[in-house]
Amino acid sequence: MNHGSDPDNSSFDHKSKKESLSIDLLSDLPTELLSQLKKTGLLSLKDIVIEGPFELSAKSGISMDDCNFIYNQAIAYLEDVGIMEKRFTPATTIYDKRKKIGRISTGSKNFDKLLGGGLETGAITEVYGEFGSGKTQLCHTASVIVQLNRNQGGLDGGALYIDTENTFRPERIETISRARRQNPSQTLDNIIVARAYSSSHQELILSESRRIIEAQNIKLLILDSAISLYRSEYLGLSALSLRQQRMNKLVHSIMRIAQTHQIAVLLANQVQSSPETGFGNTSFKAAGGNIFAHSSTYRIFLRKSNRNRIARMVDSPNHPESEIVFSIDESGITDPQKI
Ligand code: ATP
Ligand code: MG
Repeated sequence: MNHGSDPDNSSFDHKSKKESLSIDLLSDLPTELLSQLKKTGLLSLKDIVIEGPFELSAKSGISMDDCNFIYNQAIAYLEDVGIMEKRFTPATTIYDKRKKIGRISTGSKNFDKLLGGGLETGAITEVYGEFGSGKTQLCHTASVIVQLNRNQGGLDGGALYIDTENTFRPERIETISRARRQNPSQTLDNIIVARAYSSSHQELILSESRRIIEAQNIKLLILDSAISLYRSEYLGLSALSLRQQRMNKLVHSIMRIAQTHQIAVLLANQVQSSPETGFGNTSFKAAGGNIFAHSSTYRIFLRKSNRNRIARMVDSPNHPESEIVFSIDESGITDPQKI
């Protein structure tokens, strides 16, 4: 594929293909392969990258070798247009880019500080904790704040809320929005909700979400919760390996969505009691075993502390393990009032 030259002689058509990152840009690909690829419904280079070569081959019937070629060409294109990091990039360039990375405020200054400025785009932030620890409240609050402008902690974008536990409440959005002096009906308009009824339904929603993300200027993808459906469907030891495989695929696909679309992903996760208890405290582990441990960029444990909540950064590539106090009120997640 020749990225530099214009196969259509700088026609308007080529410009629009480039803007939409259409797979037609894979001009080195034989026409039969291209039409075979189109039959899968994957029409954008971002789709190709999100699927990955294995899925691509399974969906299209195209050989693994050809799919690897197509995948690498798609990556090269996304590198060219700056969506993905170029191969062999000086660390200084990465650092400069990271300083400008989009972040969404959580609503609490303390919590934002713990995250280095808020929920990061291109990354997965996982929050886990017991019932009532504030996971869903954080999801609701972030869906409102993402819509604000950058000076107010938002990204001028919408939220896509995948609700697997039937706990999304428009009434709560209305209250948070009003408390933050926003227009509740406008706020609700910018939150797209998808209720997932089974793990395979959740996977379908996720694969369809890419269209919505582009069309609705989505900057925040929420999964509340990410794996509850898998946990309830795949029971017992015999189902464990299949469950882990499916969840592994899920989180990798989420990660690729976050990176290719440069959106923030917020995952709520359940807890399971850990046998490692100390000093009379039951300790909790995030559900899902090692799958999320390796895939989430930031993992945060939430717990109740009298009327407040505590958030602890448990795993991060660049933050120390530390904790902060936040609280929940009409406006959603906020800082505790100083008495
Ligand atoms: P689960 O595991 O059950 O899903 P969760 O971590 O998602 O739990 P949340 O729904 O985020 O729990 O938190 C519920 C808590 O949020 C309530 O117990 C209450 O303390 C608090 N809360 C909810 N709405 C309000 C409100 N309007 N004002 C103040 N606090 C609220
Ligand atoms: Mg919840």
